Amino acid sequence: MTRTEGPSLACVIGRARRLACAAVGGYSHTSPPRRRRMLLDQLARPLRSLRLSVTDRCNLRCAYCMPEPDYVWLPRAELCDFAELAELAALFAGLGVDRIRLTGGEPLLRRDVPALVALLAARLGAERHAAPLAGPGAGRPELALTTNGILLADQARALRAAGLDRLTVSLDTLRPERFAALTRRDAHREVLGGIEAARAAGFGARGDEPLKLDMVVMRGVNDDEVVPMLDFARELGAELRFIEYMDVGGATRWRADAVVSRAELLVAVGRRLGVPEPLAGRGSAPAERFRLPTGQVFGIVASTTSPFCLACDRARLTADGMLFLCLYASQGVDLKTPLRRGAPRAELAALLATVWGARAARGAEERLAESERAPLVPASQLRKNPHLEMHKRGG
Ligand code: SF4
Repeated sequence: MTRTEGPSLACVIGRARRLACAAVGGYSHTSPPRRRRMLLDQLARPLRSLRLSVTDRCNLRCAYCMPEPDYVWLPRAELCDFAELAELAALFAGLGVDRIRLTGGEPLLRRDVPALVALLAARLGAERHAAPLAGPGAGRPELALTTNGILLADQARALRAAGLDRLTVSLDTLRPERFAALTRRDAHREVLGGIEAARAAGFGARGDEPLKLDMVVMRGVNDDEVVPMLDFARELGAELRFIEYMDVGGATRWRADAVVSRAELLVAVGRRLGVPEPLAGRGSAPAERFRLPTGQVFGIVASTTSPFCLACDRARLTADGMLFLCLYASQGVDLKTPLRRGAPRAELAALLATVWGARAARGAEERLAESERAPLVPASQLRKNPHLEMHKRGG
């Protein structure tokens, strides 16, 4: 399962550590803000966004992510505590990250996530100005969260008050019985309640970032709800994103014929609601956005049939502090151990800078080039190396 991840990670880490030790004291916080410099990888992609997993646990078992009967969880003692998550987030922010998305598993299963959001907002706000790679006058990174919505009703207001900027709720069907079949949990009503609470808390309010809904479309499972889900999103004033079924680690039941492609989605929508017009300005965002003749905007994340690796500026951190440079990566870099060992900030920053600098990952593009496509990692291997699971690296 070797992928193009550049020189072997082991030698990158070795070089990084040597450089890090040499670099201690390299980064001074007194340097005046300058024109924005960015940390680029081997494909000149800047480090701009971080998916920060706060737990690998989930209260759903979605067929496209966790179809297996049982899972190997990260030991609780290995999970980064809030102070460590904030320290690592600040490290990334100091190297140019300006978007941080909290993910899981299901992030709201971690106790007191609003307190973590408040800590991140305060810490990153305070630090941003001193960061060598921060843009002049840069504010704190934007904080976003993706949830399955089940625990949202009780936490939406607190998340908003804590400083959460954006919210995305995963919802793959409007039918409770289909939800139960797809997720092996009977919690559709809670998800709808969570969405209502999020709107009441101000997420997606006029002039604010729209509330986002993510729908993974699978042929013969929920592809007949593409237009009804668009109608539902329109009524809510939310922005729906269709996500192609991905063959990432954990999707052990993935089949190519179950993928509903970007092209098919556009035809299905166009047939009923008029031809969608592509919107410019995608940048590095995973979703390509379209506007319908009605003015409604929606997105498509076409990682399987039309990947966008060359614009990918995302790093992923697992809840136990492992850095992954790609959703398809087979190896990660442990940032928690040096952090717990008390490594100086500059040493950690140099390690991260070197690892990112050596990044050449294009996992989805390489998968697309493969003639015989099957699930990426067999279930037996996932049990041996749980970090290969998508739900461990925040999807
Ligand atoms: S497959 Fe990897 S490189 Fe490509 S967009 Fe996804 S995370 Fe980025």
